[in-house]
Amino acid sequence: MEDNEYMKMLDRAFEKMPKLAAEVSDFKIPVVDSISQGNKTIIRNVAQIADKARRNQDEIARYLSRELAVPANMESSGLVINGKFKQEELTPRIKKYFDTYVICKECKKPDSRLEVAGRGMFMFICEACGSRYGIKSY
Ligand SMILES: [Zn+2]
Repeated sequence: MEDNEYMKMLDRAFEKMPKLAAEVSDFKIPVVDSISQGNKTIIRNVAQIADKARRNQDEIARYLSRELAVPANMESSGLVINGKFKQEELTPRIKKYFDTYVICKECKKPDSRLEVAGRGMFMFICEACGSRYGIKSY
């Protein structure tokens, strides 16, 4: 291989690297944007949270319902939780969701999906590194 060609190949390799690093470091777990309405709490940015997690909005509702032990449903105004919860109580729960169900424990990347594995378990599948492991379902 000619030197010139080799340098070009290196250039191409380096072009790709900073982009990948940026994608990882740009990933931030969203902060919950919620308001209370009577005895209910509405998470207004559930679409943003679900997009970041690459999960269904209904999945997020189901998880929070389980975590908070109250009904939570998707409505036109957002994710409606029965009960009064402060933003400071909800954000750590969302963080926990990402830490457990979205971010791969092996490679720390968020490119994952869940499959129902039965017996109260999910199979966590990382699309970045290929890891698969069982986690408790919600
Ligand atoms: Zn991984």
